[in-house]
Amino acid sequence: MFSRNQHTIASTCAVSGRGYWSAKEVTVVMHPAPIGTGIRLVRTDLPSSPSCDANVLNRSDANLRTNLESGDAKFQMVEHLMAALYALEIDNCIVEIDGEELPGLDGSSKPYVDALSHAGLIVQAEQRKRLVIQQVITLREGSSWITASPVPTGVSHFGYQLAFDCDGPISEQSYGFSCTPINFTRDVAPARTFVTLEQATALHQRGVARHVGYNELLVFGDDGPVDNELKYRNECARHKALDLVGDLSLVGVELIGKFISHRGGHSLNGRMAKALYELMVQQQYRESELSQRRAA
Ligand SMILES: [Zn+2]
Repeated sequence: MFSRNQHTIASTCAVSGRGYWSAKEVTVVMHPAPIGTGIRLVRTDLPSSPSCDANVLNRSDANLRTNLESGDAKFQMVEHLMAALYALEIDNCIVEIDGEELPGLDGSSKPYVDALSHAGLIVQAEQRKRLVIQQVITLREGSSWITASPVPTGVSHFGYQLAFDCDGPISEQSYGFSCTPINFTRDVAPARTFVTLEQATALHQRGVARHVGYNELLVFGDDGPVDNELKYRNECARHKALDLVGDLSLVGVELIGKFISHRGGHSLNGRMAKALYELMVQQQYRESELSQRRAA
């Protein structure tokens, strides 16, 4: 398994739309960034433009989404942007956002992938940092679990198994894929987020997401998606795999392993990201000790 070089984008690109919850129009501008920057989110609508590194240490718990915050730099629903950056192997990028909640778009990562692919990639003269999973790690939460395990091939695998306690409009389904830019772009990025009609109605009654139309995500009624068509038979499981990629990308390095979630959501993904981050810190400590001993 050879380490590969870091990447940034070759030119600036942007995506605009409204936040699902806030209904606010927001623009996400993605800029090239130097070696070692990582992914840094900047609030350009606030005085002094505070910023936040896209790292699990800055993750805050939220319902049905992944948020980041560092001081005044707060961001909501970053996972679809993060999945696109990670899967396209973009290590360094400054992302300027003129609002707190990222745009819902069509509920997928496709608009980000399209913009970033169009911007092009630059190879940078430094190796990527990475974490190679060497033993199985399992975390549980009720009837959900998530595992990270070694992959012999060096190509990471992300998978999701979706099931509900009782019969509902969304069928039991699963999906897994080898995470390469081509596979993600073709098979995962277009998969949209979903809710049941019951959930959508409850949100509307609370005054949330009233502006969101049936074409801006998948709303499942008893007969399938309302005023919409599935792009894939197992689109929901594919979207959950997309969320898994975005949430685990907050470790901040390339992950080499097999990652499977069984009925998990953002909070379980966040716990795994934290565990992997701690593993990486331990590994880096051992490596630096080893190289110091060699030098002595
Ligand atoms: Zn999602």
